[in-house]
Amino acid sequence: MNEPVFDVAIMGYGPAGATLANLLGLYGLACVVLEKDAEIYPLPRAIHFDGEVMRVFETAGLRAAVETISRPGLTGMHFNNAQGETLLIRGGTNARGPHGCATNHYFHQPELEGVLRQGVQRFDCVQVRQQQEVESIEEDAQGATLQVKDMQSGARSHVRARYVIGCDGARSLVRKLLGSGKTDLGLHQPWLVFDVRLKADVPALPDHTVQHCDPARPMTYCNVTGNRRRWEIMLMPGDDPAKMVQPETLWPLVSPWLTPAQAEIERAVIYTFHSTIAQGWRRGRLLLAGDAAHQMPPFLGQGMCAAIRDVANLAWKLDAVLRGRANEELLDTYESERAPHARAFIELAVTLGDIIQTTNPQAARERDAKFKAGQPTIFEFPTPRLGPGVWLGEAAPVAQIFPQPELQDGRWLDQVIGLHFAVLGDPELLSQVSPETRQLWQIHGMVVCPSTDPNIAAWLKTQQVAAVVLRPDRYIAGVARSAAELDEISRCLPQVAESVH
Ligand SMILES: Cc1cc2nc3c(=O)[nH]c(=O)nc-3n(C[C@H](O)[C@H](O)[C@H](O)COP(=O)(O)OP(=O)(O)OC[C@H]3O[C@@H](n4cnc5c(N)ncnc54)[C@H](O)[C@@H]3O)c2cc1C
Repeated sequence: MNEPVFDVAIMGYGPAGATLANLLGLYGLACVVLEKDAEIYPLPRAIHFDGEVMRVFETAGLRAAVETISRPGLTGMHFNNAQGETLLIRGGTNARGPHGCATNHYFHQPELEGVLRQGVQRFDCVQVRQQQEVESIEEDAQGATLQVKDMQSGARSHVRARYVIGCDGARSLVRKLLGSGKTDLGLHQPWLVFDVRLKADVPALPDHTVQHCDPARPMTYCNVTGNRRRWEIMLMPGDDPAKMVQPETLWPLVSPWLTPAQAEIERAVIYTFHSTIAQGWRRGRLLLAGDAAHQMPPFLGQGMCAAIRDVANLAWKLDAVLRGRANEELLDTYESERAPHARAFIELAVTLGDIIQTTNPQAARERDAKFKAGQPTIFEFPTPRLGPGVWLGEAAPVAQIFPQPELQDGRWLDQVIGLHFAVLGDPELLSQVSPETRQLWQIHGMVVCPSTDPNIAAWLKTQQVAAVVLRPDRYIAGVARSAAELDEISRCLPQVAESVH
């Protein structure tokens, strides 16, 4: 009966599962990843992630590797009407944006997943078992038992773990086991996704992504990486899905930009874009992350980004609970914090979907007039606040992501903080906190950064505060003007019941 009990079983080795495996590997937790497929999912999916997500990859020690397979997109995304006039632009910032990198990065999802999986190989504490389908899970007081089928031999076995994270995608078994309902945000629309490889440069194709808001046939076209280009094409009433993916249909659809002589088809597939969010991301030892917890249409390029934010939020909480620095209830703050944040992005993607997917010509004319075609409105990604959880403060910037300044010594802030909590502030104020606060900081390995660094001092000055407490996922736990306020914020840090004062 001496079977191994893993700290965490990660179900699913997509971007959510692979990123979580890297983060938990860094924490040194004993993990097993169970993935039913033999290979990385080959069909076209994500091509964009944002600067905050690059910071998670950086924390995982993978920024340099990710940079080799991605490119910064500095000119954002343009929403054009049928006449080619720009209505709206989602902006792009340069390589020194608020996160210490560009705000938009483009990539080919299978290549990114390859980098993430290679990263996992660094950790002896993480076992990856592919072609292993989890068929059922049973919980008990000590942990969970996963019944697993070997996809090659058909043999069945089981795995024990203290927690199970369902990173098992949109059709999640874990979500079904949790019995979670879904909030439906209303958008469900089939789109054809069509990837090509250019044979040579096509100067007419722009560097930025274009949402071609033509009521006759809404489309998106994007520069991915290298010679890869993507078209996403909305299905219209009467379209035959089987015919839509055939070359004789595909080429005429993209003929305003491309001819068969200029490119070869890589893949064409129809997806139905959804906008839903699960209600109930945790029950006992089972939790959800990524597409298992939420799905969003890709008009903002944020579905996978939300998945990566989920696991960045969850990883440090799992570590704190599994190592006895926090009670299990800390894991409930995962959904309460993340669900409203993910929802803010889904709602914006649905709003943009309404703009793009307008098929009534009169409504399209009214839309164009409203956006004053030719004088585009520029917007950036929102920075929503987390829902209720491990933070204290009435208003932003508390519960928002903290920027990543470059420090005077040439390092970036995240390199200094690593996997820990951090307090940045006036040295005198930091020395005045209570012994209880000091003890709590010690328990959490709090990184203390005096505000002698000009970039940190500048941020504190702008916010008119003397100190800021950051969590390991770089969200702001609180800002303080006095040692007493710093003591109060510190009391919201995770703790075990006995040490609550
Ligand atoms: C056309 C399109 C474009 C997109 N563009 C973007 C974009 O630009 N930017 C962006 O951020 N997002 C984008 N997305 C969304 C993004 O692809 C997904 O959000 C992301 O793949 C979700 O990752 P995940 O790890 O949660 O799930 P998945 O990638 O679906 O991984 C789930 C894994 O779980 C495994 N699994 C399932 N059940 C079991 C089981 N019982 N046992 C073992 N293993 C199991 C599966 O085999 C799979 O490998 C796009 C999606 C589409 C369809």
